[in-house]
Amino acid sequence: MSISSFHPPRRILMGPGPSDVSESVLAAMARPTVGHLDPSFITMMDEVKTLLQYVFQTKNELTFAVSAPGSAGMECCFANLVEPGDKVIVCQNGVFGGRMKENVERCGGVAVMVQDDWGQAVDPQKLEEALIQNPDAVLVAFVHAETSTGAQSDAKTLVELARKHGCLAIVDAVTSLAGTPLKVDEWQIDAIYSGSQKCLSSSPGLSPVSFSPRAAEKISKRQTKVQSWFLDLNLVMGYWGGEGKRAYHHTAPVNCLYGLHESLVIVQDEGLENAWERHQSNHLLLRQGLEQMGISFLVPEAYRLPQLNTVFIPEGVDDAAVRTQLLTDYNLEIGAGLGALAGKVWRIGLMGHASKQANIDYCLSSLKAVI
Ligand SMILES: *Cc1c(COP(=O)(O)O)cnc(C)c1O
Repeated sequence: MSISSFHPPRRILMGPGPSDVSESVLAAMARPTVGHLDPSFITMMDEVKTLLQYVFQTKNELTFAVSAPGSAGMECCFANLVEPGDKVIVCQNGVFGGRMKENVERCGGVAVMVQDDWGQAVDPQKLEEALIQNPDAVLVAFVHAETSTGAQSDAKTLVELARKHGCLAIVDAVTSLAGTPLKVDEWQIDAIYSGSQKCLSSSPGLSPVSFSPRAAEKISKRQTKVQSWFLDLNLVMGYWGGEGKRAYHHTAPVNCLYGLHESLVIVQDEGLENAWERHQSNHLLLRQGLEQMGISFLVPEAYRLPQLNTVFIPEGVDDAAVRTQLLTDYNLEIGAGLGALAGKVWRIGLMGHASKQANIDYCLSSLKAVI
């Protein structure tokens, strides 16, 4: 056998994630591996925590990166906050809300579903009705930025409703973090998870999370042990928390964390508000070009995510053939539709480092040539 080293092609990633990883993040990940309890590494972890508090806009002590992708951040929130018998109101308007239901039930909770059409935002009125009908509910969960459709929900209002009815709120911010306004403390979000590979433009494999003091209290008062050993926050915090006195829990993905650190430094240097504005103005540029080609959007303008543009595939155009040709002839990746939207839409991402004019021009000219 003589398999040689793997050299991936250089693609432009304009799908639903991962997004383009910048040269400086790739370079950071190629730096020497140190021990995960090395004092230099611990200093870096402290900086990652501070930078995450900045991008989440929170002072939450319990803020760190789960050593696994966004789905593990999701699981971490539910496994720690849902106890057997807990009633959780889950708002679903796409694929990822469905995974929340799955998580609640696997934790022994009871999910009460609030459904909205795919492509629409979560309707606050429906949530309020569900809260009134279920006064025993203890948690509300929803997706801020539904990557399956490109719809953005009003997180501030939804969390306000949860709070008004005595519930804690779990928010999926995998695609929203650093791409669209998100203010964890101001909006009083209790548990939130994201991913390293969307608008942070780091490599996949890490899930930034943050928990409010209220959430931490619910976790510390649990009657039952968190059924996942790996994700049990009481144990993980011995590693990520506590000033200097870190104990071994698991081996952190050292080089992956160098990448996350670098991507967070990039957001800090740009300024979070500037990053939000860049995503918005680039979305408008892409939209203009697509509309000139007669291509229209799935999501009503008021709820459109700037970092994930879901557009109808023009009549008579072969979905798979176009995406394959874009990838093979243009090294350009765009996303397919999921579930009921498969074959009907494309999902064009403008996330993080990929959200720039050169990519928009390239995407539009490649699409024109291929269609
Ligand atoms: C990508 C995504 C996830 C899952 O993240 P992974 O890193 O793929 O595990 C969860 N929720 C939303 C909204 C996403 O876009």
